[in-house]
Amino acid sequence: MLSLNPYSTQLIEEDDIEAVAQVLRGATLTQGEQTEIFEKELAEYLGVKYVLTFNSATSALYCAYKAYNLADSEVITTPISFVATCNMLLENDAKPIFCDIKSDGNINEEKIASLITPKTKAIVSVDYAGKSVEIEKIKAIAQEHNLIWISDSSHSFGGEYKGEKIGGFADSTIFSFHPLKPLTTGEGGALATNDENIYKRAKLIRSHGVVKKTLWNSEVSESGFNFRMTDIASALGRSQLKKVDSFIARREQIARFYDEIFDNNPHFDTLLIPSYIKSSRHLYPIFLKQKYFCSKEEIFKALQKEGLGVQVHYKPIHLYSLYSPYSPLYMAEAFYKAEISIPCHQKMTQEDAKITAEKIFSVFQSLQICKA
Ligand SMILES: *Cc1c(COP(=O)(O)O)cnc(C)c1O
Repeated sequence: MLSLNPYSTQLIEEDDIEAVAQVLRGATLTQGEQTEIFEKELAEYLGVKYVLTFNSATSALYCAYKAYNLADSEVITTPISFVATCNMLLENDAKPIFCDIKSDGNINEEKIASLITPKTKAIVSVDYAGKSVEIEKIKAIAQEHNLIWISDSSHSFGGEYKGEKIGGFADSTIFSFHPLKPLTTGEGGALATNDENIYKRAKLIRSHGVVKKTLWNSEVSESGFNFRMTDIASALGRSQLKKVDSFIARREQIARFYDEIFDNNPHFDTLLIPSYIKSSRHLYPIFLKQKYFCSKEEIFKALQKEGLGVQVHYKPIHLYSLYSPYSPLYMAEAFYKAEISIPCHQKMTQEDAKITAEKIFSVFQSLQICKA
């Protein structure tokens, strides 16, 4: 099979390789100085007091939920996310309560209040495709009802809301450094917060719950894991962090090209980003017009045949059997029928984007529309 141009991918250059090689030549492979510096650089970049790195965003989510003691509570969240957002709630014995979304794929703030019960303890939102949620609206609801707000910003590292970096708005913000995400460490994640207690507790859970005392002595008062990032990964992260703004700028260029060429086309809609939001452009989603819903499989296969590594983000989490009993969410399910993510990443040139757009149009032009 010919290799497909993926919807997203990493860009690794010689300086990244050299940064990793230097650690490999040194004494410390596990968590050490590189990670400490990486966390400081991340905190500075994001404009927050504390950043903890992890071996994945999934483990960062786990520790954040645990640090906020979400066990036995209800947590209002979005069905349009990677399943880890909710799996980690289950692992914490918290109950996800699914709130429907808006047409941009983000949680519908207007619908949160009606889902709040005496058991509700937190809101977990996701910045779908790299576009921030409406910060003021979620903050207001959280404040009014005394709820914790955790932002799964796995898509939106480097993104901004009204000129400020995403990372310090919610009580805690989670990032993923998976190779498909804006910045990569191979596997990895981070928790950003301004809350010293959450930082300290999550740090303990990250590494066995062990507190070092003097010499060989230590104390354990709470169980934990080994969710640490290695210095090998941190060195890659530090090198990538220097370039992440240029990656996002590249993605933005490609996205703007698409926005223009796809404007008002008869087949699908695109995602509008208001001028006060800077998206990381982690995904470039297109939304099929309703008449194409029953042809989605055919369209998807035809795009793959054209060499496009498309994907669908996401099958709504409430549709998975693990999350039954099922109760319908109209917008999330329509979103699932409509969405396809097309290639948009820092390895692409303007010419690649032009060819991609042409291929997409040709697929729609040669399509026999099904009778729904
Ligand atoms: C990628 C992703 C995760 C999981 O990230 P890992 O680093 O792979 O654990 C969690 N939530 C969302 C929204 C994601 O996109």
